[in-house]
Amino acid sequence: MTVTYDALHQQLLEKQQHLQGQLEDTESAVREEGVGYSNHMADAGTEVFEQARDVSVARQLKRSLSDVHHALSKFKDGTFGICEGCGSIIELARLEALPSARMCLECQSHREGKR
Ligand SMILES: [Zn+2]
Repeated sequence: MTVTYDALHQQLLEKQQHLQGQLEDTESAVREEGVGYSNHMADAGTEVFEQARDVSVARQLKRSLSDVHHALSKFKDGTFGICEGCGSIIELARLEALPSARMCLECQSHREGKR
C-alpha cells in the first residue's frame, strides 16, 4: 500500500494536536513548579533541575510543532512534498517516515555535512 498526500495531511493534523497537548502540559508543569519555589530551599536544586528539563522539553516540542505547522502551510500552498533545497519531489517513503520533512534526503545530508 502506498501512502497518499491525504493520509500524510491527516497524520500531520493529528501530530499537531498531539504536540499541542504535550506542550500545554509541559508549560503548565513549568508554571506550577515555579510557584512557591523559594519556600523550599532544600528541594530548590531538584526543582531547578526539573524546571530546566521541562523548559528544554517545551523548546523541543515547539520546534517539532513549528515543523508540523510549516508542513501544513506547504499543503495550503500546494508545495507539500517538494524539496526546499533543489525543488524536486521528495520520495514518498521519506515523507511516510517523516511527514514534516522539508528537504529531500540528498539536500538534507548535504546540509548536515556542512555543519
Ligand atoms: Zn533536494
